[in-house]
Parts: sequence; structure tokens; C-alpha cells
Amino acid sequence: MVTYQYLCDEHGFFDIVKPMGTAPKTSRCPKCSKRARRHFGVSVPPTKGWPMACEALACHPSQIPEMQAEMRKRMGTTTEFDSMGRPILQNRAHRKQYLAAHEVFDRDGGYGD
Ligand SMILES: [Zn+2]
Repeated sequence: MVTYQYLCDEHGFFDIVKPMGTAPKTSRCPKCSKRARRHFGVSVPPTKGWPMACEALACHPSQIPEMQAEMRKRMGTTTEFDSMGRPILQNRAHRKQYLAAHEVFDRDGGYGD
């Protein structure tokens, strides 16, 4: 069995497990049931547009529940993580809030905030 990764425009990454060579081009998002396209190249996060998987603030996948709980406490909202442990930043405001909660400032982000 192989894990295939899909990307919902709204909810970020999710995985499905299927026998090798049987991955459909699209799969229904488990959260909204919209068609999500297959995502190739698991180590490459989307670099343009939102939502964005944040490589720099990723944690080990085993730490996702712990990180999610901590971020919920600090931010008051829930942040989704992909299977690689990368937080899914929904938009610019979310990114800013997430960075602040991490006490991180991104000088080179080119966002001006
Ligand atoms: Zn979705």
C-alpha cells in the first residue's frame, strides 16, 4: 500500500492509502467533499497563494497534536497541519498571527508585515 497526498484548495493536504498504481487523479476532501487534486513531490510546499504549508515552522509529525494544542492556547484558533508536520497557514493574517505566536519575525518574507 502506498500513501498518496492530495491538496484541497480550502483545507490543505490529506492522505489516502491505496495499492500502488491505483491513485486517482482527484479525491474527495474528507472535510468538504470537494475534489482535491493529487499532490506530487511531497517535500515541495506550495510557494504561491493560500493556504500555504510552512516549511520553516514544521514540527515532527509525531508532535502535531502537541503543537496544535499549544498553538490553540496561544492563538485561540486551530491550525491544521499536513502529514509532514507543516502548519497550513490559511492566509496572510493567519501567517502573521502564527509567526507572532511562535515569537518569530520573518524579515525576508516580502510581506511587509
Ligand atoms: Zn476541503
